[in-house]
Amino acid sequence: RSLGNGHASRPQSPLKFFIQAKKRINDVFKEILEYVQEAEKFQTEVPEGCKQEEELSVTKYEGKIQGIIEVLTRDHMKVVFFGRTSNGKSTTINAMLRSKILPSGIGHTTNCFLQVEGCDSAEGFLLTEDSDQPKGIGSIKQLASALSTVKLKENSLIRILWPKDKCRLLREDVVFLDSPGIDVSPDLDTWIDNFCLDADVFVLVANAESTLMQTEKNFFHKVSSRLSKPNIFILQNRWDVSVSEEEADQVKEQHYQRNVDFLSNELKVVDKQEAKNRIFFVSSKEALISRLHEDNLTPTPSGSLQKDYPERLFAFANFEKSFESCISKSAVKTKFEQHSQRGKNIMSDLREIMEKTLSTSQTQMTEKQKFREEAADELDYLDKQLILLTSEIKDKIKYMVEDVENKVSYALNE
Ligand code: GDP
Repeated sequence: RSLGNGHASRPQSPLKFFIQAKKRINDVFKEILEYVQEAEKFQTEVPEGCKQEEELSVTKYEGKIQGIIEVLTRDHMKVVFFGRTSNGKSTTINAMLRSKILPSGIGHTTNCFLQVEGCDSAEGFLLTEDSDQPKGIGSIKQLASALSTVKLKENSLIRILWPKDKCRLLREDVVFLDSPGIDVSPDLDTWIDNFCLDADVFVLVANAESTLMQTEKNFFHKVSSRLSKPNIFILQNRWDVSVSEEEADQVKEQHYQRNVDFLSNELKVVDKQEAKNRIFFVSSKEALISRLHEDNLTPTPSGSLQKDYPERLFAFANFEKSFESCISKSAVKTKFEQHSQRGKNIMSDLREIMEKTLSTSQTQMTEKQKFREEAADELDYLDKQLILLTSEIKDKIKYMVEDVENKVSYALNE
């Protein structure tokens, strides 16, 4: 494999950080669940008098923890792609997935969002919002025709479930969302509410031949008013065809300045220095072509890559490296921080309840002990009384019997 063109498998992938964190936090919640179940068993076994009232029961926590575990297993890293139609959003996603999954070059005939996510089955399938029935997609042609034949509401979501074993990024829990061209139906508020609030990274696929459009800028203004400091990458795509060699450096510098200014001064999501690390001059088309040939071990046809292409392939791989590190860190922070906070709260509630249960049962035990001791003293006294009493009665009976006997013998003698 040539260096600098991205690798199908990266042993040191930063995405693993997310996967490991997810596994670890999942294990912790499983332990908490076991603890709750034990506490629940304990509570049902304590004697009636020590039982806690409803609000001090631990039963409700079991459902809560199971809920968190369920959300946790569905948690993933989400990247959303924006830009004008034909800037190369689909091609970029395909290049990153090293596979022609999304149809490109047809524009979105429907104004819908396409989400690519991993599945465990051997064949890919589609899921649309209007039905639970998966629709088969054997090939990219079928997908394109499926997209043009399914009738969909505007701004609806089509989920493309693609076999995880075919793409590393899907295996590593990244979900890709392709949006309709921002120039087509910019109902930006709906877009943000429905699709972007759980996004970890946004990639603006810009056209290296023109400057950023106001709609593109507006979209990110709106996003950053809803999400605090969203992670935004800007790909200046089509760098292979954009400018002549003589102008290249100058045009690049202009794009850099404008984009840095947009990210740091206008949006204030990163500082100037960091903004520079968020802008990449690439050709997604070249990246896709060369990767497909690389993976199939076939030579890339001459003419499909333009002059100086290694530089652009390198830039694309660099973008991916920064992207992977950024998305993984951001997802761990935003998604797992919430879970771990909830876990901590549950644990401190549980501790309080169990401490109360313990102290109630301790008080009850001491009271019982005291009662038992008092009862024992009383019994002792009664015992003695009884002994005295019985001996008194015995004497009385003896006298009575003797008296009766005397009286009887007296009567007989008479
Ligand atoms: P989308 O509408 O933003 O998803 O754009 P597509 O990915 O469908 O790309 C539109 C057209 O531009 C397709 O014919 C692509 O092959 C082409 N294209 C995409 N990226 C590049 C690039 O970097 N260089 C060149 N020359 N063409 C590109």
